[in-house]
Amino acid sequence: MTAVSPAPAEATAHTSRWPMTPELAALPKVEMHIHLDGTLEPAMKLALARRNGVTIAQSSEEEIRDSFVFHDLPTFLAVHYSNMDVLWTSLDYEELCYAYLSTAASQGVRHAEMFFDPQLHTSRGVPFDDIVRGYRRAIVRARSDFGVTAELIMCFLRDYGADHAMTTLMSALRYRDWIIGVGLDSDELRHPPAEYAAVFGRARREGFQITMHCDVDQVDSTEHIRQAIEDLGTQRIDHGLNVMESDALVELARTRRIGFTVCPLPYSTHPTRGLPELEVIRGMLDAGLLVSVGSDDPPYFGGYLGDNLQFMAEVGGFTLQELWLTQVHAVDIAWVSARRRQELLEELAGYARDHALDPSAAE
Ligand SMILES: [Zn+2]
Repeated sequence: MTAVSPAPAEATAHTSRWPMTPELAALPKVEMHIHLDGTLEPAMKLALARRNGVTIAQSSEEEIRDSFVFHDLPTFLAVHYSNMDVLWTSLDYEELCYAYLSTAASQGVRHAEMFFDPQLHTSRGVPFDDIVRGYRRAIVRARSDFGVTAELIMCFLRDYGADHAMTTLMSALRYRDWIIGVGLDSDELRHPPAEYAAVFGRARREGFQITMHCDVDQVDSTEHIRQAIEDLGTQRIDHGLNVMESDALVELARTRRIGFTVCPLPYSTHPTRGLPELEVIRGMLDAGLLVSVGSDDPPYFGGYLGDNLQFMAEVGGFTLQELWLTQVHAVDIAWVSARRRQELLEELAGYARDHALDPSAAE
């Protein structure tokens, strides 16, 4: 597929269901759980389908939004994977990433560490290089245009197994300077972290940082969290709310300063969930865990990072102090240079002073 018309797809006006208060809008933010593949807004899907000559089942943004019907992780993944068919060229990936960073910056995001799943695309015939080079160009442009810094984290899809993950890791080695870490996502059923021990061992030896998804209420969730921390040496758990079911796991995570990246709005879309997760998140904060906030896949779940924080405030009663603390935690666990970390912490300290927050809460 080749581009046959000029770039149509960079503007993604985000109409928020959870508009931030002015004081929350001013909070400097750090996004630690965002899937670039999951940021494809309906308008961009339509534009890319047209440009790339891909036939899709929907003809309007509304129809695309109406197609976002799912009730658990497997049904979500089925909807999400089908939307990937419009992404083909390096320019497509550049526009996708630039649009996300543009929207994030407009919500006060200063730094983002972004997942991408190359197997969703290389399995359809898209060259690995086109994906990574497109994302990289967007990161460079967004830094220049918005001052936002960003890093790439390559995730392996559990569905494809360990051998395919290792092959994908080998493809990433020549982009070692552009990909800061590796992660693990997609359907956990029958795919425990231990299955990927060799892949993550090699990744660590190659110098990649390590994170992995342990989604909420999966089969063997607490055992997956234990394996990820103890056996695979992960530095972060993406989601990981079930850690609170085990005092020993909480202690382990606290001792090793494991970062958790939680995503409030996505939990609220589950028919049997919502508020309980917000209480668990507060419990994680109160237990002294390093909890940061992410938006996961914004078009599917109703919002970007600012929306998620506003949702926490409005529905969960989280205070500005608590929301500020999640941003300090995000900086703590971010894979940034000492200089960039200092810049971000100084900005958050300035915000705390201006809003009469207690900075000792972060110590
Ligand atoms: Zn995720």
